[in-house]
Amino acid sequence: MFSDKEISRFAKLETPFYYYDLALLQNTLSNCSAAAKVYNFHVHYAMKANFNPRVLEMIKATGFGADCVSGGEVKRAVEVGFNHQQIVFAGVGKSDREINDALDQQIFCFNVESIQELEVINELAGLKNTKAKVAIRINPNVDAHTHHNITTGLDENKFGINSWDLPQCAEVLKQSENLEFIGVHFHIGSQITSMDVFKNLCVRVNEFAAWFEERGFIVKVLNVGGGLGIDYHNPEQQIPDFEAYFKVYHDFLEVRSNQEVHFELGRALVGQCASLISKVLYVKNGKKKNFIVLDAGMTELMRPALYQAYHQIDHLSGSKSAEGVKYDVVGPICESTDCFGKEVALPETFRGDLIALRSAGAYGEVMASHYNLREGIVSVYSED
Ligand SMILES: *Cc1c(COP(=O)(O)O)cnc(C)c1O
Repeated sequence: MFSDKEISRFAKLETPFYYYDLALLQNTLSNCSAAAKVYNFHVHYAMKANFNPRVLEMIKATGFGADCVSGGEVKRAVEVGFNHQQIVFAGVGKSDREINDALDQQIFCFNVESIQELEVINELAGLKNTKAKVAIRINPNVDAHTHHNITTGLDENKFGINSWDLPQCAEVLKQSENLEFIGVHFHIGSQITSMDVFKNLCVRVNEFAAWFEERGFIVKVLNVGGGLGIDYHNPEQQIPDFEAYFKVYHDFLEVRSNQEVHFELGRALVGQCASLISKVLYVKNGKKKNFIVLDAGMTELMRPALYQAYHQIDHLSGSKSAEGVKYDVVGPICESTDCFGKEVALPETFRGDLIALRSAGAYGEVMASHYNLREGIVSVYSED
């Protein structure tokens, strides 16, 4: 919910823009940090969820590490000032150049997703006369029960090393002089809302960690990835239940005294702290449908077009009349999937009214594109 003061501020600004509630972000970070400290868990922020500079600055200040999925993200994490020993680098397709740059930065760990990648990292580290620290990203075949397009831990997914390849993986690790094995890594999907899914993951993590230990490896790091979801249907439910989340891992993960547990949270930390604020350009009343055409589209918030994601749509202007009219809320882009919601019940709406697309802090601004030669999106902060 926005205050009258915020809404009158929005009315004076050029739309569309992302509006960041930095106080909420701070509360979310503090809450997560405190909940993790109870069990001595390490949190890395999954930078791909949002790399807005103000957001990154606050996350770094919280003491979290950075979870990167490209050379560009590793570079940004270093520039922003994340501790190199808290930077991890995952991704199925790390290029030689990205690997070399990360080796130069002496990052904490490569989360390795194929046997071939292990061999390449070993070779490149050898050329630099250094050792690369690696964790094996294992595909545990655990169903995340989330949207098909954001599931990553099933046999059919491209991510991680499958269990049947682990014997060969162990061989390569033993023969590779320039690799230092530090542990196992998992990430089974995003927007996961059932704690049972994480429980199932714990069972698999225990099995795989034991598998490596039985073969003489020291498993120092158990990295269980991220994936904790937020409540898109209830944006006022702003801070995810980090306590319950970490407790599941505390209860079901078998952690030895020399082991560290690492997490890579993205969406749960930043999802609720931003809204996309847009103005109604046109209202089209058809025979069967009424359309609201916004000045923001899939070029500013791609999630609905990409995976039918739901964002609550709030009408911020004028009449607080009963929600009487049903509209399809669409953007201006020349694509039929450029639609934020169908048959959305809203007060009667007019040209110039303000609309907020809620819970847009994760995978929102970062996915903005210049398709249709759109100009790009700006950010506005609650603190300014
Ligand atoms: C995207 C990603 C995450 C974060 O996922 P969230 O659902 O935003 O928590 C964590 N780890 C890896 C390897 C990822 O690719």
